[in-house]
Amino acid sequence: MLAYLDHHATTPCDPAVVDAMAPWWTEQFANPASRLYRPALEAAAAVAMAQGQVARALGASPEMVIFTSGATEANNLALKGVCEAALQAGTGPSQGPPRRRLVSLVSEHRAVLDPLAYLERHGFPLTLLPIGPKGQVNLEQLDQALGPDVLLLSVMAANNEIGVVAPLPAIAALCKAQGVLLHCDAAQAAGHIPLSMADLEIDLLSISGHKLYGPKGIGALLVRPGVPLAPQLHGGNQQDGLRAGTLPVPLVVGLGAALEHAMADREARAQRLGVLRDQLWEGLAGLGGLERNGDPQACLPHNLNITVAGVDGTQLHQRLRRQIAVSSGSACSQGSPSPVLAALGRTRQEAAASIRFGLGRATSAEEIALAIATVREAIHGLRA
Ligand SMILES: *Cc1c(COP(=O)(O)O)cnc(C)c1O
Repeated sequence: MLAYLDHHATTPCDPAVVDAMAPWWTEQFANPASRLYRPALEAAAAVAMAQGQVARALGASPEMVIFTSGATEANNLALKGVCEAALQAGTGPSQGPPRRRLVSLVSEHRAVLDPLAYLERHGFPLTLLPIGPKGQVNLEQLDQALGPDVLLLSVMAANNEIGVVAPLPAIAALCKAQGVLLHCDAAQAAGHIPLSMADLEIDLLSISGHKLYGPKGIGALLVRPGVPLAPQLHGGNQQDGLRAGTLPVPLVVGLGAALEHAMADREARAQRLGVLRDQLWEGLAGLGGLERNGDPQACLPHNLNITVAGVDGTQLHQRLRRQIAVSSGSACSQGSPSPVLAALGRTRQEAAASIRFGLGRATSAEEIALAIATVREAIHGLRA
């Protein structure tokens, strides 16, 4: 048995979601942009329904939903789209100097950091703030970094490695006071913890289907009305010209269904997985020499990230891999040591000897027991 405990890398597509998608591949294959005959109108209605499902789950309205190929594309559209729109707007003499600076955190996902670095090379100065020892943003430092020259702040709702949940109400208030746009990468948070664009005053929000028991290859950017955004994919008038390309109706339907299912069991799932996660930590902590990464008080309920002192990371993971599917960092930075753990002050060796557990909907008490036994045996073997 291989216990899959890497749900931050991806989640299995829910069978009910697969069922919801099924007719849209074969029988109902019409292009929703065709509009002249009934099957196309039905496809357009299915897209509209998915927009409604996505919007309802995230405290938004349907016209705010732009479907993308995933959170990576949503982040690129948000960050590059806002910057390009700011360039186009320019500034009149009465408007003062233009806002160009971008602010973010060192702990962001590469799908945010890489577009930001690209924009920095194209004339948008970038400030990357450090994180505290538990992975949290320092709000005072953040407030100081925001100012009249800042165009946008990008902060993830929940971290993909250490599960730290951002204090979004406080962050949004700082942005509002300074007239700074707020983008939020919510790939790890949507469908897992409460998240409402309306309550939190987030301007742009990215989500990913395959992180919330939906299909891979679909995500969305939600954009508050009035936020200037320049399209980054040109080639058609789909989605009000903001994202050209024929909509993948089955995937769109799948994203809507996945979010609806995720919202239906979100609270119960969070509670159950929180208990299992705590059991996992208690079962491991007794081994000694283990440290928990991140902030246990503000953490995704299904995340546990630990560092094992004094063992070789490669050997540790070799001893785990046949029993449990876990990782030492983000799936997207393959091989290179985790920059998030480095920002917490972990050395290269410590980062390599770290284990990220991501529990999920199907995780059982037996799998947690297996994980505890496997890690225990591996550490005993390596320390002997
Ligand atoms: C997985 C992930 C992404 C990338 O999402 P894709 O849909 O795979 O492009 C971006 N940001 C975070 C925080 C993620 O966890």
